Amino acid sequence: MNKIIPLALFILFVGLLLLNEQTVQYSPKPIVLTDVYENGFLKKEISNVRNTADYDISIELLTDSKYIIVSEDITWINRTEYSTNEIQFHLYANGYKSNKTLFAQQFNVTPEYKTELEIEKLLVDDKEKELIYFQPEVENPHDSTVSKVILSKTIEPGDSVKIHFDYKMKIPRSIKRLGYAAGRNFFFISQWFPKVGVFEEGRWVCSQYHPYTNFYSDFGEYTVKIKVPKEYVVAATGIQHDKLEEGESSIYLFKQTGVHDFAWCASDEILSRQEIYTRNDGTGILIQAYVQPEREKFFERYINAVKNSLEFFERNIGVYPYQTITLVDVPRTSASGGMEYPTLLTTHADLFSPDEAKDIEMVTVHEFAHQYFYGMVANNEVYEAWLDEGIATYLTEKIMQEYYGERNISFRIAKYFPIYGLNLLSYNEIPLIYTLGIFKDKEGSQALAAFYRSPSLGAIADTSYQLPNLLSYVINSYYKPQLMLMSLERYVGYDKMMNILSRFFEKYKYRHPKSKDFIRLVENNTEEDLSWFFDNVFEKQYYFDYRVNYVQQVGDNEYEVFVERLGGGSFKSDVALYTENDTLVQTWDGIERWKKLIFKTADEVIGAEIDPDRQNVFDINYSNNSYTVESRYWASLSLAIRVFFWIQSALLLFGSIG
Ligand SMILES: [Zn+2]
Repeated sequence: MNKIIPLALFILFVGLLLLNEQTVQYSPKPIVLTDVYENGFLKKEISNVRNTADYDISIELLTDSKYIIVSEDITWINRTEYSTNEIQFHLYANGYKSNKTLFAQQFNVTPEYKTELEIEKLLVDDKEKELIYFQPEVENPHDSTVSKVILSKTIEPGDSVKIHFDYKMKIPRSIKRLGYAAGRNFFFISQWFPKVGVFEEGRWVCSQYHPYTNFYSDFGEYTVKIKVPKEYVVAATGIQHDKLEEGESSIYLFKQTGVHDFAWCASDEILSRQEIYTRNDGTGILIQAYVQPEREKFFERYINAVKNSLEFFERNIGVYPYQTITLVDVPRTSASGGMEYPTLLTTHADLFSPDEAKDIEMVTVHEFAHQYFYGMVANNEVYEAWLDEGIATYLTEKIMQEYYGERNISFRIAKYFPIYGLNLLSYNEIPLIYTLGIFKDKEGSQALAAFYRSPSLGAIADTSYQLPNLLSYVINSYYKPQLMLMSLERYVGYDKMMNILSRFFEKYKYRHPKSKDFIRLVENNTEEDLSWFFDNVFEKQYYFDYRVNYVQQVGDNEYEVFVERLGGGSFKSDVALYTENDTLVQTWDGIERWKKLIFKTADEVIGAEIDPDRQNVFDINYSNNSYTVESRYWASLSLAIRVFFWIQSALLLFGSIG
């Protein structure tokens, strides 16, 4: 017994030393956490997942010729109640094939950026098959990002099919997510393997590689072997199961169940650190951070952003079921930064990334949020991008506010201000003097400024890939949905909002929900019919502007407040009458063009305001939402209040700049 205590202390001491040693060279075996995981996934959660498309892939990375040689086995199970006699594949890498593909409408694919899948063999249930290329959405004979094979035998519900590909692919210079970083030994490999589409409701959903939109796939188990030169380190989706040395090469083995994509990167110069995040129940999540040597100083900020995100999500939304989360900071010459993959996120920083601006944290938190909304709640991003982008953008702001406070946005003025800041400021008659200085980034202000740039070009409900341009895609997938969720939060309350998102997550994790599922869930979890809200904000593309035209006494102790709806959109709003002693509130459905509301009070009236709690964040001009009764006593206060509103509006807009 007396020997046990010193021994325990010694183990504890060594443990602490190890914990303290943060920079670890990639260990041959990952840190063993506990036996709560199986194939990188919490055992207690595993029964919720239905793997449909399993992948077993072996890759050899040739760093000199910049090629990957790949052997890929897919097992696809028909988990629907419909049968099919074909199987469809995404071949995203073919989007980089020429300057004429659908993808190339937005990205200039010059020779160094070109690549394609050079398929040498395709077997379906051990029989040789030919791919048939076609374009399901946008006619373009140069686009070969979708293909199918016609099967010799129908796959009935519950049946499975085995597919084998042998192929190679030249690694292009980094272009939108895939490629090597110029001047560096850094290869980021994403959207690289033939991937089965989603078979749902009796039809295949397998979209082309569109220029703006992301992806849609089924869940599965990935077993991936990656052979690289010995001096290279590999970071990838999932948990590193093993690492073998073979002559001058290393072979990494990654395994992960319950995911719908796999990305990896290899570099011989990247730095790495590992840390454990401990959940409330004592189980751990391995955080692995890979950072460029010149950004070593940002390790802590990156890792803290991941920890804060984990803490927020586990507390408010639901359990993070994976054994690991891997962060990859990409070099300046890589186009792979700021993107989400299952259990792996990419991020980046400018060399000058001031702590106050929190840009590093913003990107990291946003990409982490996608682990839940995209990674687990896996909506079709080609059709309804807002569902993951909007929720991720909304929650990013919540996390930033909770853990970091208001950001300082003065650094960005020079870069963006002249483009639209000036127009807005003159539009709202805000004194220009307020444009010079340092401003705090108010919640939603970036989103508002982006939204104001083009409030009527497309609606959130529109099919994402059909939106007319990048600006419209960004507004209707990121910013307007963020504002919609912010408005909803202000309407139903913060706790209720978190409760709604948590229920949405729990109900649809490892599933493919649609917008209507989200809206139905919101409506089932609120006491009132919110169809007016979704009609105005989600389905349509309205301007919102409410105004208090005047307040006047119309009888003994009776005041008339004249409110107007100037924009096309209607929004149910409170109307407040301020008196010297009290605030009286009535609710107006906001549907008519104008309304005269009668308030009764014996007190002296100061003024009135529509939407005093700013629930309708879309209102394009807040400075006309209030009206101050002119009187000898209140004249000076009136001016003060107007200036106050100017400043508030200015702050609100300012933040937007970026
Ligand atoms: Zn995103």
